[in-house]
Amino acid sequence: PLRDSDSVVENQITVCVRKRPLNDKEVNKREVDVISVPSKDILVVHEPKNKVDLTKYLENQHFRFDYVFDETCSNYIVYKFTARPLVKTIFEGGMATCFAYGQTGSGKTHTMGGEFRGKHQNFNNGIYAYVAQDVFQFLNHTKYKKMDFIVSASFFEIYGKLVFDLLAKKERLKVLEDGRQVVQVVGLTEKVVTKVEDVLDLIQKGSQERTSGQTSANSNSSRSHAVFQIILRRYGSGNKIFGKFSLIDLAGNERGADTFKSNRQTRIEGGDINKSLLALKECIRALGKKGSHCPFRGSKLTQVLRDSFIGENSRTCMIALISPGVASCEHTLNTLRYADRVK
Ligand code: ADP
Ligand code: MG
Repeated sequence: PLRDSDSVVENQITVCVRKRPLNDKEVNKREVDVISVPSKDILVVHEPKNKVDLTKYLENQHFRFDYVFDETCSNYIVYKFTARPLVKTIFEGGMATCFAYGQTGSGKTHTMGGEFRGKHQNFNNGIYAYVAQDVFQFLNHTKYKKMDFIVSASFFEIYGKLVFDLLAKKERLKVLEDGRQVVQVVGLTEKVVTKVEDVLDLIQKGSQERTSGQTSANSNSSRSHAVFQIILRRYGSGNKIFGKFSLIDLAGNERGADTFKSNRQTRIEGGDINKSLLALKECIRALGKKGSHCPFRGSKLTQVLRDSFIGENSRTCMIALISPGVASCEHTLNTLRYADRVK
């Protein structure tokens, strides 16, 4: 597995995969783990020939990514090789984005640190919190401290074509684009933060808001994208943004396939999710190639992230999360193929 001592590669686009462990329920059901991670950048799927006899495999499918995190890797290790190298970017006036992509239950919220229920409460050791820690570390202990930054944070949710402010009781917000293609989420709450604890409070508040007031919290948060942003401004430069770090807990990618379900609402949601994940893939790919077109108007998600896709100094990482069980094989392969094409 990847170790703290392994070296970090500096890419404009980093794509990696994290495999979660089998959970208690899966272990009790004697679910078979079909994923192996033979080295720190290779992952193999052992797809069974049929669902009855799991000892006979189709040809093993190999995938290579920048990094592959096996089930023994901690959130900190994942952070170190994904979002951590991007913190510097925002202090240099750039835009950084980090996406958690995968099917519902694969570990997106766990990795980001937006989980607050149950025994695995992990605000303090998810990627949101690690980024916040390092931002203040940079501000207090590096050459950047002389530059006088104001730090603030926002947290919102995109559900279909609607945007909700997670720091203002889910108030519905409008997205406007002016003549110069500058996109603005009108009225979005931005709280000034001066220490890590301030950020943790906002993460907790927003995460609770995200899953509150629903009968089945998980099923509903799986249908929306959550966007957490840390924003840097220089003193004396007005409202102008200097650098921004966007951390996105995406909707469950299996929801994108709900386009054929009989329930009308589910079908519409599925279509919106599908569209946004396709647009996202194209926008990230465009980032890596000079002169190529970024179809940011293809979805609300890519529209609100526009300034993160167009800048000269923009960097992105995608963490694709997968479940290890044979029952998830099909979704896992879909996730891996998507991640494979982002590069
Ligand atoms: P998602 O947000 O993708 O739907 P979650 O992050 O809610 O999935 O994860 C589903 C469950 O699996 C949660 O109970 C979470 O704590 C657990 N889990 C996910 N990833 C890991 C991991 N790497 N180690 C231990 N538990 C995990
Ligand atoms: Mg989640």
